[in-house]
Amino acid sequence: MDTKGAKPSRRGLLKKSIAAAASGAAIAAQSGVLFAQARNAAPGRKFRGWISRGTGPGRTTLQELTLRPIGGRQVVVRTEATNLCYSNATDVLGLPPMNFGPPREANQANAQTRPVPSAFAALANMALIQGHGGVGVVEAVGPEVRRVQVGDRVCVSGTPQCGSCYQCLRGRADMCQFLNRQGPNDLVPIADMRDGTPVYANSHIGGLAELMVTFEEWAVPFFTKAAAAPLGMVCSCVSVAGLGCTTSQVLALVEPGSTVAVVGCGPLGLSAIQGARISGASKIIAIEPIRVRREVALKVGATHVLDPNVEADKLVDKVRELSNGPGTRLWAGGRDSGGILAGSGADFVVEGVGADRAKPKLESGPDPTGILPMRQAYEMCAPGGHIITTSLPAGTFSLPAVMFAIGGRTHHAGQAGGANPMRDIPRFVEMLDRGQYDANSLATSVVPIERMLEGYQEVVDRTTVTAIMTG
Ligand SMILES: [Zn+2]
Ligand SMILES: [Zn+2]
Repeated sequence: MDTKGAKPSRRGLLKKSIAAAASGAAIAAQSGVLFAQARNAAPGRKFRGWISRGTGPGRTTLQELTLRPIGGRQVVVRTEATNLCYSNATDVLGLPPMNFGPPREANQANAQTRPVPSAFAALANMALIQGHGGVGVVEAVGPEVRRVQVGDRVCVSGTPQCGSCYQCLRGRADMCQFLNRQGPNDLVPIADMRDGTPVYANSHIGGLAELMVTFEEWAVPFFTKAAAAPLGMVCSCVSVAGLGCTTSQVLALVEPGSTVAVVGCGPLGLSAIQGARISGASKIIAIEPIRVRREVALKVGATHVLDPNVEADKLVDKVRELSNGPGTRLWAGGRDSGGILAGSGADFVVEGVGADRAKPKLESGPDPTGILPMRQAYEMCAPGGHIITTSLPAGTFSLPAVMFAIGGRTHHAGQAGGANPMRDIPRFVEMLDRGQYDANSLATSVVPIERMLEGYQEVVDRTTVTAIMTG
């Protein structure tokens, strides 16, 4: 500042600006993380991606695409592996749409961002890369990106975590409000087809391509040398949900020595079994109609397996019987086995069945809508116990009202098993690296990008536990 009131000289100003620049550089050197980074992928880069458009079988085809320039908080990831999630099969294979309950009203306030029926129609007409998760290496970042850097290995998480919305601030990152920002008006074009048609990434992820273009909120960095397929497995939405509900302790706590029942042994249930083992459960009861999956359940940590088709309407009693202990002497810490308000049952139940998208080629479960297993899961939970539901069943369901009202069971529902992506996904990768989590027993089919549709067919037929597409 010029204390004499005279005009500042040009030389003085120059000196000041050099000093300011120097101090800025010093701050940048001390805390470089506070400053923006910008590395743009070569616009015009070609890559292959599976484009879904229209309706019915044949709607998904492999195309050569041209990358658009990125900006802001966008991140370009070279795909290493993507799980072929069962819940995405309808859109990829063009199967008949699922009925998840009464249709939503089209006039709701946020209709433009919620997938109402008209939004589904709009999405069906867009050239969309399906897939809702994957792992890979960051190739480029927009100038506002802070979380990840070029060269980082990252998970593009099925569940975003912005860190600043209502839910994230209250410890429920699994319900991050950005989950609702995936409608047709929220998506941005990331590439073009040969004929100039703009291409969008499903859920801002689009894992079924050689490149994923996402936003920072979906990107979770980690530091591991794990191979692509097991890493893609442990970071998949289903593994994160299974490990999340049993180890994250956001929804409920699996206590050491407890009894855990897992209903449905797809990749989610088989991850929940492993999470229950990691958390120290002593008895883990796996319930699954497919014999091969029951065998995998025993391999990864289940202590008992039950076939719901064999147990039929005795299934709940059977789980209560297996959960008995330490005895029936009430004065000595025991419990008896009967009744709605007393008696035994699993301390912790994970439900992970859901509705069939198509008839399985292996053993079918007792109810293709997933409703019966959900009710059984609730009923096999001990009074005072916890049930976490994770699946996508079709329809509505009922329970004995008195059991629901005063039966002492606490129900938890959430995305991703309540996992907090930025905190928990790196922990799950650590469990893989340390040999606590067995990914290879779940990723029983690994296919290159060209054979993605074959992998998906195996997933729908249930002839594999799940399939991983490698980039
Ligand atoms: Zn999924
Ligand atoms: Zn959020």
